[in-house]
Amino acid sequence: MNDWDKIAIKNIKTAPQPPEGYIRLSGPLEHDNIVNGDGLRAIIWTQGCPNHCKGCQNPETWDYNSGVLIKIEDILEELKKIPGQTGLTFCGGEPFVQPKACREISEYVRKELGWDVWSFSGFKYEQIKEAGGEAWEFLKSLDALIDGPFILSQKDLSLKFRGSKNQRILHLEHGTGKILSME
Ligand code: SF4
Repeated sequence: MNDWDKIAIKNIKTAPQPPEGYIRLSGPLEHDNIVNGDGLRAIIWTQGCPNHCKGCQNPETWDYNSGVLIKIEDILEELKKIPGQTGLTFCGGEPFVQPKACREISEYVRKELGWDVWSFSGFKYEQIKEAGGEAWEFLKSLDALIDGPFILSQKDLSLKFRGSKNQRILHLEHGTGKILSME
């Protein structure tokens, strides 16, 4: 394990969590989005990111104490009212620093609304797996993970859903987190 892995795993494990039943968001719920995953998607913009990638387009989402604390049940009520979506994507900020809150929403959406669930992460799949705990539980609730930090020197605007060449679209087996295929 290299130093980057050690720092990433520590950041996953030590991030301050929102109060039980709440999630910290950086922006309002979005819907009908076609650029953050397959199909027509609702988007949850989470607040807080320890990755601080050079060239990040949303540095205002880094602060763990900024954004707005919202009740998870209020988010679920809003999601229920959005017609015509095929999926939900968690964007950031860094969704994996609020894994318990994200998993609660992810499991509801999959079970009650029949949508698939994707998440972006500046962490790598392997780092999330090694960190375990709630982060790994959240990952297991997903259908796809777009992983890895944004690396400015590898920026490529032609990539589907991604900003830099190092990032991967990992299609996952729901419930186990097993990688089924990779783009
Ligand atoms: S992981 Fe995403 S939100 Fe966080 S610094 Fe990198 S590009 Fe920005």
